[in-house]
Amino acid sequence: MATFRIAIVGAGPAGYFAAQALQNSATEDLVFAIDMFERLPTPWGLVRSGVAPDHPKIKTVAKVFEKIATAGNFRLFGNVELGSDITAEQLQSHYDAVVISTGSALGRKLGIPGEDLPGSLSAADFVPWYNAHPDFADLEVPLNCETAVVIGAGNVAMDVARMMALEPSELDSTDTADHAIAALRKSSVRDVYLCARRGPEHAAFTSPELRELPKLEHTTILIKKESVLTAQARVGESAEKDVRSNLEAMVLIADLEPTHHERTMHLEFFLAPLEIRGADRVEEIVFGVNTIVNGEIVATGETRTIACGLVVSAIGYQAESIDGVPYKSGKIANTEGRIEGTNMYTVGWAKRGPSGVIGTNKSDASEVMKLLVADLPAVPKDAADIAQLLSGHRIVTQTDWEKINAAEVASGEALGKPRVKAATRKELFDLAGL
Ligand code: NAP
Repeated sequence: MATFRIAIVGAGPAGYFAAQALQNSATEDLVFAIDMFERLPTPWGLVRSGVAPDHPKIKTVAKVFEKIATAGNFRLFGNVELGSDITAEQLQSHYDAVVISTGSALGRKLGIPGEDLPGSLSAADFVPWYNAHPDFADLEVPLNCETAVVIGAGNVAMDVARMMALEPSELDSTDTADHAIAALRKSSVRDVYLCARRGPEHAAFTSPELRELPKLEHTTILIKKESVLTAQARVGESAEKDVRSNLEAMVLIADLEPTHHERTMHLEFFLAPLEIRGADRVEEIVFGVNTIVNGEIVATGETRTIACGLVVSAIGYQAESIDGVPYKSGKIANTEGRIEGTNMYTVGWAKRGPSGVIGTNKSDASEVMKLLVADLPAVPKDAADIAQLLSGHRIVTQTDWEKINAAEVASGEALGKPRVKAATRKELFDLAGL
């Protein structure tokens, strides 16, 4: 029986699905000892720090992750960062193969004047802030303004807009970070504009996200029916199912009985951000008004200015580069998941860019793990256990994580929440007794 040691770096969905694919391909003669490294003291990646807190069902996939983690031959090395605590070279020499599943943590930049003004944030910072990611606990989110603008027409933009536009009491039964609930309670934001640079038919939302908007009990949702009807006319009957479904969902929203809640979410189209303005902080954003001519998006030359105190751009992500790991165009450089000339592989958003839902990573990781297994040498490496190299480093093991998890869940139970998340490294280490 041959036991191959595999390192997986990044404990998000893609990393767990890679581990699962390896576990599923084990036989009597071929065994995998999996070590999963994670720079945070907590695993689960975007399931913990990305998925919106008011979408608890999506997070139930964490049960699958825990099953993978406790299936045997699996160790968690939390609080260990590739590139600082351990190098790519060290991993490559200790393991038969290394899988990089570090995701895409950096928000893409708009590249427009004023983007760096206080009050202009990326969803890559705002989302982990409300999800209690320890690196963002101290983020300044100026909610002391009447109007906020969200740029982008994807599901992240939708999450961000919804989190700012809902009545904060709707978050009481969620695992939103305590600091975010407190800030959102004090928020003066009453109008949230979600601005897309193209038309309704081009929006990257998925229709369940649109269809849940009318369920917000304390928020008026506004969308110009005319803009959706003209989009429907443009795409006709032959439009793809997803596009048709999105447009139907938008018509349903436009047809809602008028409501006059204190809070309003506006869905706006054909607005391309040109400049964010303000003396010391965001005061307004200027958009170029687009239109569509023969299927092409063109600028009309007109502009529209929205006075606002907060702009959150949700226009996609890119991977962080890691010392010793080839990087190209916002991703880990790879050919179908293989990192050429190394015993490293990559899966998930680090490999293919920030697209797809959590489940997409399952088939993606499974395909790459087939290549990894096929590439394995006949005999495993004879290398020392990595634990020796990390001795003295504060490692969050699976047992430590289970203590954190149990403590968070117990605190939540008393309050009718799925959990109360610890939001700093110190609190997390304290819960683990480290
Ligand atoms: P996304 O779906 O790729 O959407 C990005 C949006 O940003 C697009 O509308 C894009 O418009 C716009 N954009 C890009 N550059 C822009 C610019 N310079 N100015 C203005 N707009 C710009 O990305 P995402 O929202 O970050 O989501 C990432 C992935 O996670 C997606 O697959 C998403 O479905 C998934 N996700 C799923 C859920 C869920 O299932 N509930 C929740 C969150 C995220 P153009 O189309 O015009 O380029």
